[in-house]
Amino acid sequence: MSFSIERRSLELRLRTVALTAREWLAPDFVRTRLSGEDLARFDSLGSDDHIRLFFPAGPVDSVEDLRAAPSREYTPLAWGEDWLDVEFAVHGDEGVAARWAADAPLGSSIGVGGPRGSAVLEGTPGSWLLVGDETAIPAIRRFSALIPAGATARIVIETVSAGREVEIDAPVEVEWLHRGDAPAGSALIAFVDALTEADAGADPFVFIAAEQSIVKPGRALLERWGIDPGRAIVKGYWKRGQAEYHAPH
Ligand SMILES: Cc1cc2nc3c(=O)[nH]c(=O)nc-3n(C[C@H](O)[C@H](O)[C@H](O)COP(=O)(O)OP(=O)(O)OC[C@H]3O[C@@H](n4cnc5c(N)ncnc54)[C@H](O)[C@@H]3O)c2cc1C
Repeated sequence: MSFSIERRSLELRLRTVALTAREWLAPDFVRTRLSGEDLARFDSLGSDDHIRLFFPAGPVDSVEDLRAAPSREYTPLAWGEDWLDVEFAVHGDEGVAARWAADAPLGSSIGVGGPRGSAVLEGTPGSWLLVGDETAIPAIRRFSALIPAGATARIVIETVSAGREVEIDAPVEVEWLHRGDAPAGSALIAFVDALTEADAGADPFVFIAAEQSIVKPGRALLERWGIDPGRAIVKGYWKRGQAEYHAPH
């Protein structure tokens, strides 16, 4: 029983989709359905893949105009022949993506680019540690779906309070951490920092993604657990005070 993370690439396409449904799962977390014929043959091979969503201010006439619109990175959660579900953390700070997810009228058009490259989990990890804030919930949902029943796993998610938790379909109970008024990521950092060598499961797959300040403690954990960084994913999904953050890939 072992695993590796393999890199794959897909042909990069820019698709036009329309917002066709919105479901609030928590007061600050919304699932959207994007629909359109352009989504035929859409695929996403890796659980932490990202697509780039392009948010034009109004109707656009050309692909060039769409490509010039502000864009942000999101995780494709689930999809079919002509639909794609994406979940958004709706944060208090101004953000073109969060605002669109919360307020755009049904029927609004946006662009979907990618995914371009994927990190695909091949084989079976001996154990699992999935850690993230609200922005990582879609990726955690996708990784959770890969965990075999009975496997050793911990899923730890930070949100503001108990009232902001969302339902996650997983073979183990999710451990929710609440940051309250503390900065985003602080509860996760305390959790990760407290993990010792004794907490490492056998041959673990580690996924950690949240506000950028999680990266340093996340990497320190890999070192403590003797994990090759090429067999784990530790990523900043956004950066405090910085719009349009691009995670290094
Ligand atoms: C690989 C990858 C996958 C991602 N998948 C998802 C996903 O599926 N769902 C999701 O919600 N996010 C996801 N993100 C995070 C998302 O791209 C960022 O949160 C993005 O900055 C949001 O864009 P915005 O236009 O709302 O805010 P921006 O215009 O980028 O930022 C405006 C302000 O808001 C702050 N800000 C941004 N995000 C947050 C936040 N979550 N909480 C508090 N303040 C914030 C910024 O620091 C800035 O000060 C992902 C990021 C990466 C790298």
